[in-house]
Amino acid sequence: MIGRRTLLGTAGALAAGLAGVSTASADPAHLPGGPCIQPDQNVSLASVAGYDDVVRQLDRIARTSHGLVNVGTAGLSGEGRKLLYATVGTGPTVFWLQARIHGNELHSTEAVLQILGHLASGNPAARLIREKLTVVVLPMYNPDGAEANIRQSTIPTRTDLNRDWENFVQPESVAYWKLWRRTAPQLSLDLHHMGQAPVVAGTNDLNQFQIGARSIAPSRMTAEQWLTNRQMAMASVDALDHYGLANVAHYPLIDITNAVFSRMLMGGTAPAGEQPVLHTPTKGAIFYEVRSVGQKSNGQLERLFTIPTMAVLTAAADGSLGSYDVSGYGSLPFAVQEQCGGS
Ligand SMILES: [Zn+2]
Repeated sequence: MIGRRTLLGTAGALAAGLAGVSTASADPAHLPGGPCIQPDQNVSLASVAGYDDVVRQLDRIARTSHGLVNVGTAGLSGEGRKLLYATVGTGPTVFWLQARIHGNELHSTEAVLQILGHLASGNPAARLIREKLTVVVLPMYNPDGAEANIRQSTIPTRTDLNRDWENFVQPESVAYWKLWRRTAPQLSLDLHHMGQAPVVAGTNDLNQFQIGARSIAPSRMTAEQWLTNRQMAMASVDALDHYGLANVAHYPLIDITNAVFSRMLMGGTAPAGEQPVLHTPTKGAIFYEVRSVGQKSNGQLERLFTIPTMAVLTAAADGSLGSYDVSGYGSLPFAVQEQCGGS
């Protein structure tokens, strides 16, 4: 279900609202090798936003936004569902905010719908973001996979949509690639869950959040892209640290060139019949991985998305992102434990 809580407030109101939240250190002792979500695991979906919720909530947010939020359709999924997105703001910097490319990574949809509602509000921080940014929100990149509660797409092939921006076998990939080309985002953020229960290396602390500043090797990026990615990453990490919400770790070092955000940074590929984008507009594209099991509530999982996302949006809007201190990036810890699901 969505919409049962009031919309997010300002960063300050967020902090106040979090005052009663237990910090990570209050979690019970964690046993390495603990729970991972398995393909056949029975996960309760009753409280998780489904496709119908996305349709309903986007409609409600747009209707009550006094014209600030517009909803569009990028195309159709393999099963024929509309690939819905919303835009809010009229600023020159386009910010792409994407959720649930993996259908069984549940809480990012609710998180971005909360953020969208907040961005349409009269809050001063939201007003600044609307003035400086145009935010393109994709609450459910993979509606077929979400309805089936699987990672991949369903029709015509069961494909990991985050590995399909080279071959473009799925209609979702083609539709969103065209939306990316048309909207030309400078900054992009992708929300995931980890199918794992790691601990921060060298500690016994449960790791609830991993920052993914590089889906490809930095050598594949321009210097500006690699700097921007680290600035987005540190703005995210610092926001979580500020509220004491999570033990943060660096996502494992990967180099996956067919992932969506990898290709936003690299350009060079296109669906059949389209011209590859040779000079990509995207200067920064990073991802979050939030723990998916063992949390106290869905609300806490959603805050692990909304707090850092709002911090990055705010830093992009007030101009601080471009000079953000990245000196702490190199000393971010990694997590230990084999992954169950991957990114
Ligand atoms: Zn994922």
